[in-house]
Amino acid sequence: MLDRVNHICLPIQLVLFHLFSACDIMCGMTKELISRNAAAYKGHLRYFTGEPCLHGHICERIVSNNQCLECAKIYAREQYAANPEKFRARSREWSRDNPDKVKIRNKKYKSENAERLRPIAIARTRKWIDEHREQANKQRRDRRARVRNAPGSHTLEQISKLLETQNWKCAGPKCNKSLRKRRHLDHKTALVCGGSNYIDNLQWLCPTCNMRKNRKDAIEFARENGLLL
Ligand SMILES: [Zn+2]
Ligand SMILES: [Zn+2]
Repeated sequence: MLDRVNHICLPIQLVLFHLFSACDIMCGMTKELISRNAAAYKGHLRYFTGEPCLHGHICERIVSNNQCLECAKIYAREQYAANPEKFRARSREWSRDNPDKVKIRNKKYKSENAERLRPIAIARTRKWIDEHREQANKQRRDRRARVRNAPGSHTLEQISKLLETQNWKCAGPKCNKSLRKRRHLDHKTALVCGGSNYIDNLQWLCPTCNMRKNRKDAIEFARENGLLL
């Protein structure tokens, strides 16, 4: 019996993986009884007669090849354990050749497991931000600039060169504090006041100067817009 599973092509094996969980629940009791011919006539991919397979599984079978899903599951697991690299390579190949099917499958998987996947995704994002702090900050600046319709962008090289040019010292008036430990990159003319996101509108400040300046920018902005006297 197991030898026959050998001939199942990979896409079907992959599909089987996604049917197993349903089979585990359905096996035996609740499934509608239908003959292979009747199922084929109706265009079903699987059928269930209530009769055990040669290995005693009372389980759904595949219409095209009469294969018991439980047997296929066992076989696929054995195959995978014997040569996981080969299996993964073939799986990757199949995914590459069937991008549309992969997209649908991933979408379904994500929506069915949204609750469980959300904290994993958040943790992954946090880890990425931790490991790519400068790049994450740049993305945040670019996003803010886009929202404000501010022109321009800058590279990570430019801002690290700017730090060298400032000699790792705060550019705030009369400050000169070291920026080795903590530093903020500031838009000299704030985005809300029409400043650009180009490198020549950027400066490194210590956190204290940056907060003081942000407050000043906010007051200026309010004044310019007639919100303050
Ligand atoms: Zn079986
Ligand atoms: Zn400072």
